[in-house]
Amino acid sequence: MPDKSNRASLLADASKRLEEALKHVTISEDAIARLQHPKTSLSVSIPVRMDDGKLKVFSGYRVRYDDTRGAGKGGVRYHPHVTLDEVQSLAFWMTFKCALLDLPFGGAKGGIIVNPKELSKAELERLSRGYIDAIADAVGIDIDILAPDVYTNATIMGWMMDQYSTIRRQLCRGVVTGKPLALGGSQGRDTATAMGAFTVIQTMLPKFKLIPSETTVAVQGFGNAGATIADLLAEAGYKVVAVSDSQGGIYAPQGLDITSVKKHKNQSREMKAVYCHDSVCSIVEHQVISNQELLALDVDVLIPAALENQITASNAADIKAKYIFEVANGPINSDADKILAAKGIYVFPDILVNAGGVTVSYFEWVQNRSGWYWTLAEVNQRLQDKMLIEAEKTWSISQDLTIDIRTAAYVHALNRLGTALDAKGTKSYFTSGV
Ligand code: NAD
Repeated sequence: MPDKSNRASLLADASKRLEEALKHVTISEDAIARLQHPKTSLSVSIPVRMDDGKLKVFSGYRVRYDDTRGAGKGGVRYHPHVTLDEVQSLAFWMTFKCALLDLPFGGAKGGIIVNPKELSKAELERLSRGYIDAIADAVGIDIDILAPDVYTNATIMGWMMDQYSTIRRQLCRGVVTGKPLALGGSQGRDTATAMGAFTVIQTMLPKFKLIPSETTVAVQGFGNAGATIADLLAEAGYKVVAVSDSQGGIYAPQGLDITSVKKHKNQSREMKAVYCHDSVCSIVEHQVISNQELLALDVDVLIPAALENQITASNAADIKAKYIFEVANGPINSDADKILAAKGIYVFPDILVNAGGVTVSYFEWVQNRSGWYWTLAEVNQRLQDKMLIEAEKTWSISQDLTIDIRTAAYVHALNRLGTALDAKGTKSYFTSGV
């Protein structure tokens, strides 16, 4: 679970990455001042009629951190530990991620304090529609666009788009991305985050002379992002030796058959190392491990793909992986950054590695607006092209300035954000009349 003691400082911690990157860019003081605060933070109460007839009021948030480069863009998280601070940090990361990928969007995020597993499907639908009723004035196709995040999915996005369209009395497909295909979703959105991460991994590891068959990988989190990246890596010949979910993990040094693990988990909700032939699955030898043990495994590549604050000052010294690719948002805090750097571990940051999701969300928004839908091959090719360009650019900034890859990613994003913010007017325009 995220370390609750650290949660109050999430946004402050996220901002430390900004401070570090600011040492390497030349942008105006005005731009810096504007990037230090979220533009709007909305807190809402959502009354929901439960199946037993009682009324329950949930708390939710929608934060638009910055919209200088375009409408706010960001997912909606359903989790019992959602806080405004967390949503603000996630919106901050979205701002930099969209700039890094050169998408015409700013950064936003939303969340509801709820354990969705405790709600019936009908209650979940009423909650999702109620959330849209509460935030409808703050979102829109050219204002702020929603998407899935932890414990939200395409079905929920479909309800949200439908509710917003009902309120506006017109079909507003582009207000939500990550929708079901039948409601204007994009091909490839469900696998986009992992596909993008896969492109980054495939681009970066050869720089260190690593080849798939000799590279061991551990993946924390077995949801949309984690299970898909584990699958893609296993298919490409990497040795995925450990995976985990919120209940714990499994480890098999000889490598896991990820397709079978996924099949078994879907059928039984439990995680076991299995081999499945048609409908017959047999359990194979494996160790049951905790999430902390998974993080400390002696593997080449570690992929945190669950929640934030998983690697902090309290466990960073235990990390043995040589390369970390952050598929989750904010899995490593800034104190841990220093410890990992001192150990010579390369960290490829969330705002680059998991940007495939928002990139295909952008493609979905473009398709909704144009009414022209792309094939899966077109989506994946455009995604790969974009991820490759920005990953290579980030890498060269890190090499040219001799800085770590996270700082390089922020520098790259900051250059774009600074230019946009300054184009709106700066102090020097005002004082010198230029
Ligand atoms: P998901 O809800 O599909 O899956 C989350 C997974 O994490 C589940 O397997 C869950 O069991 C596991 N988990 C929860 N708490 C855990 C814990 N304490 N330890 C280990 N595992 C735990 O969510 P997702 O969409 O896969 O998102 C995962 C991460 O990726 C989040 O940080 C999210 O912000 C980030 N992300 C997702 C997308 C996307 O498109 N899905 C895009 C960008 C970033």
